[in-house]
Amino acid sequence: MDAALQRLKIGPFAEDLFHPGHNACPGCGSTTALRMVLNACGRKCVFVVPASCASLYFCPSDTSAASVPVIHTVFAGAFAEAEGIAYGLRAQGREENVVVWAGDGACYDMGFSGLSGAAVRDADILVVCNDNEGYQNTGGHQSSATPQDALMQNGYNPDDLVGSSRRKDLAEIMASHGVPYVATASAAYPEDLSAKVTKAMHMKGFRFILLLTPCVTWGYESRVSVKLARLAVETGYFPLYEVDAGVRYRITHEPERRPFEEFAQLQKRLRRADLRIAKREIVQKWEDLRFKASRYPEQFHLRAVAG
Ligand code: SF4
Repeated sequence: MDAALQRLKIGPFAEDLFHPGHNACPGCGSTTALRMVLNACGRKCVFVVPASCASLYFCPSDTSAASVPVIHTVFAGAFAEAEGIAYGLRAQGREENVVVWAGDGACYDMGFSGLSGAAVRDADILVVCNDNEGYQNTGGHQSSATPQDALMQNGYNPDDLVGSSRRKDLAEIMASHGVPYVATASAAYPEDLSAKVTKAMHMKGFRFILLLTPCVTWGYESRVSVKLARLAVETGYFPLYEVDAGVRYRITHEPERRPFEEFAQLQKRLRRADLRIAKREIVQKWEDLRFKASRYPEQFHLRAVAG
């Protein structure tokens, strides 16, 4: 077993910072991603977790599935609390990174003012938005990360209630704050995800990673969770890129541009969606992204990027 792990360049499981025994659903894209994020962050960090599924699967019952300190908090207070913890640690001469693992509810909606405020103050924290496109811990309610026309469990007859607004482009909103680092990532691309977390951990100031994580409430078979995460990227729906100092855009993966139907048809929530709208948005997003990525040469001076 050890020889096989060595050959595959996988470290012993004892060094894994996220352990078996958490209580997430089978097929949860969020825990797959969290395992990679935690291992990239390493032991020198403190996690702050606002209310979400993660509140349960991080520390089920009277135990913890993680090998790092985890502080639970309310939606709106998470970012200010993380900022305060970072100040407190620095005052003691300690260097631990403070990482907020927050859902889309905490980042896009209820906690957005706190997130924006922390970005404006350039708080020395890393925020990883575990974006599963809805309030999934309560059974799948619409958030402003929910795609247009997605069927959500919002009422008595969920089939009558669809996500009514366009999905907010949170990565762009955070980039417009001019913070040192913003990136998008997916657990289906572990090297890319790991490289972005590692880069963010070596920077100072406010850093933000938007991580798309499939959730079984989308209506898929649990075995296709990673496939869905990959198709979100390969159809162009969820581009992988990073933004340094709010200006320098870099596309980190060129998708195959597979038909959007391949992503949509694997999940029940999009069965009544007008896919033409999503396809048009994908084209617009990529035009915008390519333009931004072409604007500045590599040597563009970056005030906030650490070496
Ligand atoms: S509801 Fe979704 S995000 Fe929550 S544990 Fe289950 S699969 Fe994961």
